[in-house]
Amino acid sequence: MTQNPLDTLSSTSFDDFPYVRPDMEHLSRVFEQHLTSFGQSASAVAQAEALAAIVAVREEFSSMYNLCYIRHTANTADPFYEAENQYFDEQSPSFEALNNKLYKALLSSKFRDTLAKKFGEHLFVLAEVSLKTFNPSILEDLQQENALSTEYTKIKARARIEFDGKSYNLSSLLPVELSNDRETRKRATEAKWQFYADNAPEVETIFDGMVKLRHSMAQKLGFKSFTDVGYARMRRSDYCPEMVAKFRKQILEHIVPIASSLYERQRVRLGLASLKYYDEDYKFASGNPKPIGTPEEIVANAAKMYQELSPDTDVFFKRMQDARLMDLVNRDGKATGGYCTYIPKFEAPYIFSNFNGTSGDIDVLTHEAGHAFQVWSSKSFPLEEYHWPTADAAEIHSMSMEFFTWPWMHLFFGDQTEKYRFMHLAGAIQFLPYGVAVDEFQHLVYDQPDMTPAERDQVWRELEKKYLPHRDYDGVAHLEAGRFWHKQSHIFNSPFYYIDYTLAQICAFQFWVKDRQDHKSAWADYLRLCQAGGSSSFLNLVKLANLKSPFEDGCVQSVVGEIQAYLNSVDDSRF
Ligand code: ZN
Repeated sequence: MTQNPLDTLSSTSFDDFPYVRPDMEHLSRVFEQHLTSFGQSASAVAQAEALAAIVAVREEFSSMYNLCYIRHTANTADPFYEAENQYFDEQSPSFEALNNKLYKALLSSKFRDTLAKKFGEHLFVLAEVSLKTFNPSILEDLQQENALSTEYTKIKARARIEFDGKSYNLSSLLPVELSNDRETRKRATEAKWQFYADNAPEVETIFDGMVKLRHSMAQKLGFKSFTDVGYARMRRSDYCPEMVAKFRKQILEHIVPIASSLYERQRVRLGLASLKYYDEDYKFASGNPKPIGTPEEIVANAAKMYQELSPDTDVFFKRMQDARLMDLVNRDGKATGGYCTYIPKFEAPYIFSNFNGTSGDIDVLTHEAGHAFQVWSSKSFPLEEYHWPTADAAEIHSMSMEFFTWPWMHLFFGDQTEKYRFMHLAGAIQFLPYGVAVDEFQHLVYDQPDMTPAERDQVWRELEKKYLPHRDYDGVAHLEAGRFWHKQSHIFNSPFYYIDYTLAQICAFQFWVKDRQDHKSAWADYLRLCQAGGSSSFLNLVKLANLKSPFEDGCVQSVVGEIQAYLNSVDDSRF
């Protein structure tokens, strides 16, 4: 007898979620059968039923995909999930192809209006945008693109950096890079960049392959450049590269000078003659604020925080704990970074990170938990399309949660709380210029796909001079040559994603301002946004949350006044 997964939801924990490799041949046959019924349906009700059957097939596939992804990244050396991951690398494009058939069928439905009333018009908008990104002629290219991404990820995951007689991976080296001793900081940071320098030929070959492959896919899809495909892949339906360019200009004009002045304050605070690249993340002579307690204690404090924040966050976080939906601590063999994903079959958000004793550990519990809380709040949408919004909107949930949890930061930082808040807000400002530089870089790269790797590096170096005028690489040849971007995985694995952080950051700043003025209405706006999930486009969601569009002239300027006033009110010479 098969068990209804819903019955076991509250009792099953992550390790018991059963993994079964989807049989692609069988799945395709069933999917196609339902598609045929969909096409032949004589009524809207019958079509909606066929659609529901397809939704169930898709849910099984994506649940197994995400389960495999989590278990593979939790231990990249596990041969079972490595093989399964490879299977998904190979099969995902075929699954995409099926999805595209569905989207075509939806768009040509006789009952489109009735379906749109039931499922929302946005489904059809998404169907249209998605269709732009695929046709069967690029199936093999997509498989190759996946394989290149995996290669890049592996290079970083297998990093072994020998430093002062100890062996580190990229995550575990981070605290050493933030050492109180400047010479240690310098040498640890240099050791990290030596790893990237050693791997530069391989990394540049991978990226060059990606750029050429992506350009050729764009042409097969009928576009001038991959930029159009990149935007469509990000499911952007209501803004274009010209609007984004204008947004970057707002950042250049209003944020870059504040960021530069913050680096100057930092230089003075640290008592340095000049602030070098290895000092940038080292904010205070007394060290960056470090979280208090063991990982278990940190999670217990997070539970207290979410209990007090709202009844919804309380229920949510208890479920994350009870079902063991978080893998937080750094281990060898674990993939780098942090992410949040969702397993629809078990209504389970999942948070993955690499705690390493820095304040970043707390950011995971606020940022990734923001994502997880949103998907949790949107789980009752039957369509997976609506579980998550596009990333530009999704990052609003995560980045705003970082601010909504400010009143509880004393639980994690004790008497260093003010210092943490200052660092968090200043860091958010300082991130923006880098964020738009990464975005502009990708526009330039895909506009001129025939650039040589050295030319790309030069483009990057020029963007650094424009957006990060304070940066001083202390003569390190690898970085002076413009290869800092090699560490930025989004450039490889998630093209055109990066600007979304900056758009969302400007929205999160708006929530920060509102929350300080009136918590109740700010939280109500936020909750409404989380519950809307992906049921609408970026600009519509922004409106729904009572926020100003970041593309609107003056939007960026409208938040910086309050932020600057706060930053100036803090006497950072005490830190
Ligand atoms: Zn995020």
